[in-house]
Amino acid sequence: MIPPLHKPPGEFDLIARYFKPLAAREPGALGLGDDAAVLDPPPGRQVVVTTDTEVAGIHFLPTDPPASVAVKLLGVNLSDLAAMGARPWVYTLNTAWPRGVDETWISAFCDGLAGMQKRHAITLVGGDTVATDGELVLTVTALGLVETGRALRRNGARVGDGIYVSGTIGDGALGLVAATGGLGEIDRDARDALIDRYRHPRPRNDLGCALVGVASAAIDVSDGLLADLGHLCAQSKAGALIEVERVPLSSAARAAVSANGRRMVTVLTGGDDYELLFTASAPLADELAGTPVRRIGTVTAGEGVRALDAEGREMVLSSLGYRHF
Ligand code: ADP
Ligand code: MG
Repeated sequence: MIPPLHKPPGEFDLIARYFKPLAAREPGALGLGDDAAVLDPPPGRQVVVTTDTEVAGIHFLPTDPPASVAVKLLGVNLSDLAAMGARPWVYTLNTAWPRGVDETWISAFCDGLAGMQKRHAITLVGGDTVATDGELVLTVTALGLVETGRALRRNGARVGDGIYVSGTIGDGALGLVAATGGLGEIDRDARDALIDRYRHPRPRNDLGCALVGVASAAIDVSDGLLADLGHLCAQSKAGALIEVERVPLSSAARAAVSANGRRMVTVLTGGDDYELLFTASAPLADELAGTPVRRIGTVTAGEGVRALDAEGREMVLSSLGYRHF
């Protein structure tokens, strides 16, 4: 006999109760009642598509607050849209739930999705719901819209362009250190601020849209500032020179670095900031679309990333644990 298919709380109950309300604003979602969604991109726009998967125990801890897991899952996808200069539009959600998953977890997770949908004007339009004997696996595919031919690319940086970052760098990676019991020597508020940054990415979508026609190249900072600058340089067939003391730090990150100077390595090489790193030929104001931006260096001929310390000496990046690969 073929064993019965086990599905969590009832696949169709789950869809109707938790996912359908998240799809209410987009008529093309067809109330999640059909086999697929039918979408109309506005005339003159291209559709930008990105996807990211998060696995329990690898990308988040099963004990993380479910709403935080939702914020991160949508946040990493929204950050990719920001880096392309695309306005968030719609997304799909694939879920593989471990048998016996707690329905209150699902409910809190969907509350987190609802908050992000509101903040970033994006709507659920479909997905898939299955049961698994393994860990919880969540995949979002996000679609954004950009004026035809104007998407921001990694490959447009030219020698002499300024290199800019938004917001502050290093909080995500320091937040992971704090969330796993480290940074005991800085005060509790600073630690909490860093953990909040790690758990709740704030994708820079308004800035991303404002950079269309302004930035010559862009990438989001997910792997770490130096690594992501390396990716942008490689695609642009150029090099970069940055002044490390110009890299913007939050007051919490500054406290962590002054307690232990080696933490600057974490700031420059750690990931999970979800800021935008971009290049521009014309000088920029220190705020764009309500977002602070700071010039940290210049695009150079040649290849690879070089960094100057506060005294103007070239830093040996391999000693920072930075690897070219
Ligand atoms: P199929 O059997 O064709 O895969 P499903 O029964 O899986 O269809 O899905 C029915 C409808 O519910 C589809 O419109 C699908 O996009 C939607 N759906 C299923 N799971 C989810 C989910 N996790 N989030 C959003 N929509 C979902
Ligand atoms: Mg299905």
